[in-house]
Amino acid sequence: MQSDSFFIPDWPAPANIRTTVTTRIGGISEPPYDRFNLAGHVGDEDYAVHHNRKLLADDIGGSTQFQWVRQVHGTDVLVLDNGLVDESREADAIYTQETDIVCGVLTADCLSVFFCDDEGQEIAVAHAGWRGLAGGVLQNTLKQFDADPARILAWIGPGIGPCHFEVGDDVRDAFLDMDIAEIDNEDGILFLEGDEPVKWMADLFGLAKIILASQDVKQIYGEPICTWCEFDRFYSFRRDGETGRFASIIWKE
Ligand SMILES: [Zn+2]
Repeated sequence: MQSDSFFIPDWPAPANIRTTVTTRIGGISEPPYDRFNLAGHVGDEDYAVHHNRKLLADDIGGSTQFQWVRQVHGTDVLVLDNGLVDESREADAIYTQETDIVCGVLTADCLSVFFCDDEGQEIAVAHAGWRGLAGGVLQNTLKQFDADPARILAWIGPGIGPCHFEVGDDVRDAFLDMDIAEIDNEDGILFLEGDEPVKWMADLFGLAKIILASQDVKQIYGEPICTWCEFDRFYSFRRDGETGRFASIIWKE
C-alpha cells in the first residue's frame, strides 16, 4: 500500500518489522498546520490531531496501540515492557520487544532514526536533532539492545539538509567535543562554511551516520531528504516556525 500521505522506508529489516513515515499530505489540519499534522503540542486543534491520528491508524491497518512521548531534545530512552505509558512521558527515543505497539516520533527538521536487530526481536525509534545527536541519544538507544551492534540495522529519516541547516560555532563545537575521530576528520565536509562569518552549514544526516558507525553499527540505510527543500511533503520548523509535525513509526508484528 502506498499513498501520498506516507511512505514505507526501503531497508532490509526482517519481514515482521514494519515502518512508515508520514508526509503533510492528507489530513484535515488548517494552516499553518496543513494538513496531516500528528502532534498535539504545536497549537493545532485537538479534533484535527485526533482525526489525523485515526487516519494514520487506518493507513497502517487499524492498530490503535500508539506510543508517543513528550520530546524534549534530550537523550532519555523510554523502554516499553508492559504496554503503553502516558504520552506525557518525557523521552526522545522508544525501545521495545513487545509486538503490536506502534512506537513513533514526531519531527519537522530533526532526524528520526529507526532501529531493529536482524532477527526482528528488538525495535526502537529515536528523535535526533542536533542536541539529541550531540548529547548521545543514538548511543543511549543502542545501549538498550541485547543484540550486538553488528546485528543492528538503522534507517535515518528525513531532516533538514546541509543546504538549509545553518548553525553557529556552538553547534559545531558540540559535535567536535564528542571525541569521535571521524567527525574531527570530516569536519570540513560536515560543516561547510556558510555565507556569513562563523556560520556553518551542518550535515545532520552525515553526522548521524558517523555516530552510528562509531558504535559499530554497520548496516545503515536511508537517503538524505531535506525537509526545508521538500516543503510540499514535509514540515520544516526552520522554514515555517509555527507548523505541524510528521511521524516516523515502527512496530513489530
Ligand atoms: Zn534544503
